[in-house]
Amino acid sequence: MSIEPATNPSERPLVHLEDGTIIEPTLLIGSDGEKSKTRSDYKIGSWGYSYNQNGLVCTVETVRPNEIAFQRFLRTGPVALLPLWGNFSSIVWSCPPDVCKDLQDLTESEFVERLN
Ligand SMILES: Cc1cc2nc3c(=O)[nH]c(=O)nc-3n(C[C@H](O)[C@H](O)[C@H](O)COP(=O)(O)OP(=O)(O)OC[C@H]3O[C@@H](n4cnc5c(N)ncnc54)[C@H](O)[C@@H]3O)c2cc1C
Repeated sequence: MSIEPATNPSERPLVHLEDGTIIEPTLLIGSDGEKSKTRSDYKIGSWGYSYNQNGLVCTVETVRPNEIAFQRFLRTGPVALLPLWGNFSSIVWSCPPDVCKDLQDLTESEFVERLN
């Protein structure tokens, strides 16, 4: 997919799809995420900054099925339990880099104990 941006207000952009289709939309919404191609094709700038937080992400299997998202706000940052399917949930543990390194160095059983 690539976009030929409109060069003046009376023009429409052209969206070229991989199968050769060309779309000429009256409204183009760039909702294609952090590395948005729409944004880069339109040369729209973005900026970011580090706020000293890492995200440790993993999948856990729980004793019972889980359909509820939980988030607990610890002093070091939030830890989230996000349901996937059946007894599986995704963990997103946001914390400073040194805490993240400590968590990564734990054995599997130590990690589960810390998480609990
Ligand atoms: C580990 C993690 C934890 C997070 N935790 C939180 C949280 O607790 N709270 C919170 O508010 N936010 C959280 N976020 C941030 C949140 O997920 C994002 O800010 C949000 O998803 C951005 O939404 P979006 O619609 O802009 O982009 P996205 O959700 O990234 O959606 C973009 C979509 O566009 C699709 N796409 C891209 N290019 C193309 C293409 N060329 N053609 C077709 N489709 C395309 C992608 O496949 C994707 O489905 C977290 C992010 C991560 C990575």
